[in-house]
Amino acid sequence: MARTAQIPSIEEAEAFHGHMCPGLALGYRVAKAALAALGCERPRDEELVAVVENDSCAVDAIQLVTGCTFGKGNLVFRDHGKHVYTFYDRNTGRGVRVSEDYRGFEEDARLGELREAVSSGEPTEEQQELYRTKMREKIDAILSAPVEQFLIITEVTDPPPPKARIEPSERCAECGGPTMASRLVEVAGRKLCRECAAGAE
Ligand SMILES: [Zn+2]
Ligand SMILES: [Zn+2]
Repeated sequence: MARTAQIPSIEEAEAFHGHMCPGLALGYRVAKAALAALGCERPRDEELVAVVENDSCAVDAIQLVTGCTFGKGNLVFRDHGKHVYTFYDRNTGRGVRVSEDYRGFEEDARLGELREAVSSGEPTEEQQELYRTKMREKIDAILSAPVEQFLIITEVTDPPPPKARIEPSERCAECGGPTMASRLVEVAGRKLCRECAAGAE
């Protein structure tokens, strides 16, 4: 299985993200499931495109595992607030939509309460400990659940988003900063960067 040797481990994902959490675990499973469904290795460049419908912790695992990254332009963010991820393989023209569908495990009713105590107030040691335990349980459940228990994977037929373009910069007439030409805004006959345009209003 030389193919899977290239896929970063969950520990590497944790190191990249900064902490271990359910979102990261979910993103890790989504990314691996997508690569398996598309039958491709971790791409070296831009052949794979991911459209992510949230900007949660999960997206860090997606970027690391699939190589679809913000900087390369093959990670497209649509702010829908959903755990839905669509991947397109430009080499084969295939696409898969992966969405979260927790059925194997329901979230503990106390978790919301605990989360609030931990994040906003001053949790008791007991609350903190219980929170950590619950989180660990959730992470383990996500990492070990059979794919069909929490992910829905379907083929898509729509075309992938267009490739990222590199365009020349032009200087902003106000601050002089080189700016992507298509991002300059005309204000009173002068081409300004968005920052300067906002200040000129
Ligand atoms: Zn996280
Ligand atoms: Zn400017």
